[in-house]
Amino acid sequence: MATLRFQALKESSNRERISVNEAPRRSEIFGKNVFNELAMRQYLTKDSFNGVKDAIDKGLKIERNLADHISTGMKEWAIAKGATHYTHWFQPLTGTTAEKHDAFFETVGDGMAIEKFGGGALVQQEPDASSFPNGGIRNTFEARGYTAWDPTSPAFLLGTTLCIPTVFVSYTGEALDYKTPLLRSLQVLDQSATEVAKYFDKKVTKTVATLGWEQEYFLVDKSLANSRPDITLAGRTLIGHSPAKGQQLDDHYFGSIPRRVLDFMRDLENECMLLGVPVKTRHNEVAPNQFELAPIFEEANLAVDHNLLLMDVMEKVAERHYFKVLFHEKPFAGVNGSGKHNNWSLSTDTGVNLLSPGSTPMKNLQFLTFFVNTIKAVNDNEELIRASIASASNDHRLGANEAPPAIISVFIGSQLTEVLDELEKVTNGKLSPQEKTELKLNVVGKIPEILLDNTDRNRTSPFAFTGNKFEFRAVGSLANCANPMTVLNAIVAKQLNEFKAEVDALIKKKMKKDDAIFNVLREYIKDSRRIRFEGDGYGEAWEKEAKKRKLSNNKTAPEALKVKKAASTIKLYEDLGIMNKVEVLARHEIAVEEYAMRIQIEGRVLGDIARNHVIPTAIKYQNILIKNVKGLKEIFGAEFKKYAQEQLSLIEQISTHIEKINSGITDMIEERKKANKIMDSEKRAFAYCDNVKPYFEVIRYHCDKLELLVDDEIWPLTKYRELLFTK
Ligand code: ADP
Ligand code: MG
Repeated sequence: MATLRFQALKESSNRERISVNEAPRRSEIFGKNVFNELAMRQYLTKDSFNGVKDAIDKGLKIERNLADHISTGMKEWAIAKGATHYTHWFQPLTGTTAEKHDAFFETVGDGMAIEKFGGGALVQQEPDASSFPNGGIRNTFEARGYTAWDPTSPAFLLGTTLCIPTVFVSYTGEALDYKTPLLRSLQVLDQSATEVAKYFDKKVTKTVATLGWEQEYFLVDKSLANSRPDITLAGRTLIGHSPAKGQQLDDHYFGSIPRRVLDFMRDLENECMLLGVPVKTRHNEVAPNQFELAPIFEEANLAVDHNLLLMDVMEKVAERHYFKVLFHEKPFAGVNGSGKHNNWSLSTDTGVNLLSPGSTPMKNLQFLTFFVNTIKAVNDNEELIRASIASASNDHRLGANEAPPAIISVFIGSQLTEVLDELEKVTNGKLSPQEKTELKLNVVGKIPEILLDNTDRNRTSPFAFTGNKFEFRAVGSLANCANPMTVLNAIVAKQLNEFKAEVDALIKKKMKKDDAIFNVLREYIKDSRRIRFEGDGYGEAWEKEAKKRKLSNNKTAPEALKVKKAASTIKLYEDLGIMNKVEVLARHEIAVEEYAMRIQIEGRVLGDIARNHVIPTAIKYQNILIKNVKGLKEIFGAEFKKYAQEQLSLIEQISTHIEKINSGITDMIEERKKANKIMDSEKRAFAYCDNVKPYFEVIRYHCDKLELLVDDEIWPLTKYRELLFTK
C-alpha cells in the first residue's frame, strides 16, 4: 500500500499544467466588480451619490431614506452582474474575514417572489456573534453584536455574492473587530495631522494615512500539503529535516518565476483587478517556493480590506491551480519565513505626502516635523509597537536572523542621520536666519542622497525610513495589518497633539513659528536618540546595546503582549477615544487566549504525528533490520556481527530516538494538562510558552534524526525537499 506521501507525489507529478488564456488589459477590467464611483454614478440618483461621497470624504452620516435608495441601486448593479446573495463582510478578532450570505430573494405571498435588498439590510445586520472571540465583552454586557456598513470601503462582488464591508460591534458599542479601532485611529490621526499640517499650508483640511503592504507567502503543491497533517492543521511543518539544498545558493530570490506559479499569479492578478485591488509587483522571495506580491498603496482602511480580500482570493485561486498558499510566518524550519511589510505615510487633501522631503525649505520643515514626530512616537511607544505584531506564529520569525529582531528600532539612513545630528546641535532658543536656512537647505541638498539611501537600506531594521514613507517590517505575513496600523496611527496622533501644544505655547510666548517648531523638534531628536539604530539588527552586539538603551526585547508573544493591558495603554486609547478600557483589556485577553490555543493545537498535532506516523514507521524499519540481522546470523553463525555492524547500530539508534520521542510526548502532555487547569488566560499562555513549547524542539529533533535513518520508501511524511522544490 502506497503511503499518502507517495500518492501525493504521484498526483503532483501528474498535475495537468493549467494555462491561463491571454489576460485582458488590466486597465479595462480594473474595478469591474466593485461598486465604485463609476458604478454609483450609473446606478444611484444624484442625491444618493452625493450622500455616499459625503460619508466617504467628510464622514457624514447617511440618512435612512437615502440608504434605501442606495441599497436599491447597489442591488440592481449586483444583480445585473449575476449576484444572487449579499453579505456583510467583517473582520472579527479571529484574524480572518467573516461572511454570512443572505439571498436577495423574498416571497411576497401567493407563490410569488421578488428580489429585495432594503436600506436596513445594507446598513445593519445581526450575525450570530456568540461564536466570535470577544474577550469577555459580551459576557460583561450581555449584549449581542451587530455589523454596520462602512461606506468608506466600497462594496464588491465575490463570485455571485455582494460583499459589504462592515464594522462589528457589540450592542453597547464596544468594538469586536479590527476595523472599528482602525477607523477611529484614522479619524484622530486625520485631526491631529491636519492641525499640524496647517502650520505649513492653511489649505489642508484632511489628512489620510496611506498603507502599501507587501505580502509574502509560500506555495506548495496541494496534494503534497494535504499529505501533511501539520500543514493542514497548524499551517506549518512541525517536523521535517532540512533538505540537502536550501536557500544557501540564493538562487531563488528574484529568479525566474516557475511556469505553474506564473499561471497562478496571472489568474490571481486578474481576480484582483476585477476587485479593484491594485496589485503591481510580483517576484520570487528568498526561500524556495516563496513569493511576494505588492500593490500600489491606498488609504489605510481600504488597503487593509484589500489585503484581507487578497488573502481570501489567493486561497481560492490557489485551489484552482492545485496549490496551497501558506501565509504562516514560518512554515519551514531552516529557510526564511514570511512577513508583511507595512509601508506607511501621511497624505493631505492638497496632494502632499507629508513624509516626502520637498524642494523648498518650507516643505522640508514640514517633512522634518512629521518625520521627527513619527520617530518620537515610536521611541515613546516601542513596546506597544512590538506588541502590535506579537503572535505565536510571528515568534518564530522575529529575531531568527532573517527577519527583524524583537527589539524595535528605527533606521533612517546616513544622510538623514546627519541632518538630525546638525539640528540637535543648534543652540537653545532663537535660531539665526543663517542656521535656519542651512538646516532647511540641508535636507533639500540631500534629496538625491536620501532617495539613494532608499535603495541601499538596512534590511535588518524593523522600522525603516525608505525615502518617502516608513516601512514597518516586523509585521507577520498572517496578520491583519489593522492592528499594527491602529497602534501606529494612535501613537503618531498623540505625538502630533503634544507637538502642536508645545509649539503653540512657544508661539504664545512670542517666538516665531519656525523657531518654535525647530526648538521643539530639536528636543524630540534628543529624546528619541535611543530608538535610532543604523547597524546590524541581527548581531548580539545590538542586543547588548539595546539593553543599555533600555529598549524592550520581548522575545515571546505572551511577554510582548503584556503592555497591551498596561495602564499607559488604556490611557492612550481612552484619551484619543479609540478604545475604552473594556475594549483594550478584551484585546489582550483574546490575544493570550489565541496564543495558548495555537500552541495547544501544535502540541497535539506534533504528538499525533510523532506517535502515529513516525514511531510506527521507525519500528517497521527496525523490524526489517532485525530480520536482516537474524538472517545474517543464520548464514554466518557466530561471525555474523562482522556483517551486521551497521544494522545493529541502526537498531540501537532507532530505539534511542523512539525512547526520547516517547518520553518527550509524555512529558509534554503532562505540561499541557497542567497548563489547561490554569484559569487565568495570561498565565495559561505563559505556561504554554515556557513549559509546553520547549518540548516541540526535543521531539522534532529526534523525529528528524529518524527521517535520516529510516528507508525513504516507507517514510510516511512528505519531505522538505518535496514540499519546497516541487514546481
Ligand atoms: P520593497 O523594495 O520594499 O519590496 P516596493 O517598492 O516593492 O519596495 O514596495 C514598496 C511598497 O510601498 C509598495 O506597496 C508601495 O505601494 C508602497 N508605498 C509607496 N509609497 C507609499 C506611500 N506614500 N505610502 C504608503 N505606501 C507607499
Ligand atoms: Mg519592503
